[in-house]
Amino acid sequence: MEKDARIYVAGHRGLVGGAILRRLRQEGFQNLITRTHGELDLTRQDGVEAFFVDQTPDYVFLAAAKVGGIVANDSYSGEFIRDNLLIQTNVIDAAYRNGVRKLVFLGSTCIYPKFAEQPMREDALLTGKLEPTNSAYAVAKIAGIEMCQAYAKQYGFNSLCLMPTNLYGPGDNFDLEKSHVIPALMRKAHEAKILGDASMTVWGTGTPRREFLHVDDMADATLYCMQNVDGSTGELLNVGVGQELTIRELVETVCDVVGFEGELIFDSSKPDGTPRKLVDVSLLRDRGWTARIPFRDGLAETYRWYVEEGGALR
Ligand code: GDP
Repeated sequence: MEKDARIYVAGHRGLVGGAILRRLRQEGFQNLITRTHGELDLTRQDGVEAFFVDQTPDYVFLAAAKVGGIVANDSYSGEFIRDNLLIQTNVIDAAYRNGVRKLVFLGSTCIYPKFAEQPMREDALLTGKLEPTNSAYAVAKIAGIEMCQAYAKQYGFNSLCLMPTNLYGPGDNFDLEKSHVIPALMRKAHEAKILGDASMTVWGTGTPRREFLHVDDMADATLYCMQNVDGSTGELLNVGVGQELTIRELVETVCDVVGFEGELIFDSSKPDGTPRKLVDVSLLRDRGWTARIPFRDGLAETYRWYVEEGGALR
């Protein structure tokens, strides 16, 4: 990407889009295009088409999506499938029709079957049943991958499909009902510490295993792939760190970082979700990229952001 290329970051107010935009600015890219949801509703095809005709971006980072944690995904499955299908269909199609040179489509590793062999390789896609708590979201993302690959095949449209493992970092959503596990646990531990509570509640049994990638590592991987990985087939690539921990180990680390020493109560009436979600990162490693940010450092930095800028209780 030339420094004066026209680059559209869709979803720049989200966790990943925000990190991509920060990174592009740091690298000195000058023609960055963004639109807030109020300015451009990506679920409306006519508006998206008009925006692409007018702005003619050269490169597109498609980080706009409706996302949420395990309970949000389960409770609002209609919104998750509708909004994600509409956003990605409109943006990918308008990008193709308006001469975009390359698009990176972002999803999540929940596209893989619930009982996929671990660590999960890209070729596990569509080999089994999905985890029911996020299947609406996952089916939309699978359709997006198929669309990128079909557009590559039929129209020669350049794209890549990057599927990050669970992400965390500054700028995350700390809403207790809708967020993912790290911000939720960080907020619970922080508030329990401030309020002097004796305990905090953790959803599920604590036994599921998850892998966590810092969003700045994700932004690094995304820029790296846009610039260095061939997009002629719409290739699917996992982005992760290749290491996992249990939710119990996670909450203990979070409590340590936050400084909360009370009791942990596991609420098994809340869902555990998929038992493991570790990705195989060898394809991306072969193409020259690996994650760098150590987990504990990333957590500590995220906690600092939450306290200073993220609206934490004081
Ligand atoms: P998932 O990776 O798609 O299942 O999404 P989440 O990040 O929401 O949840 C990961 C795991 O953390 C699940 O097993 C949850 O049950 C568990 N978990 C424990 N406490 C919490 C919490 O307070 N919020 C969320 N979102 N998950 C929690």
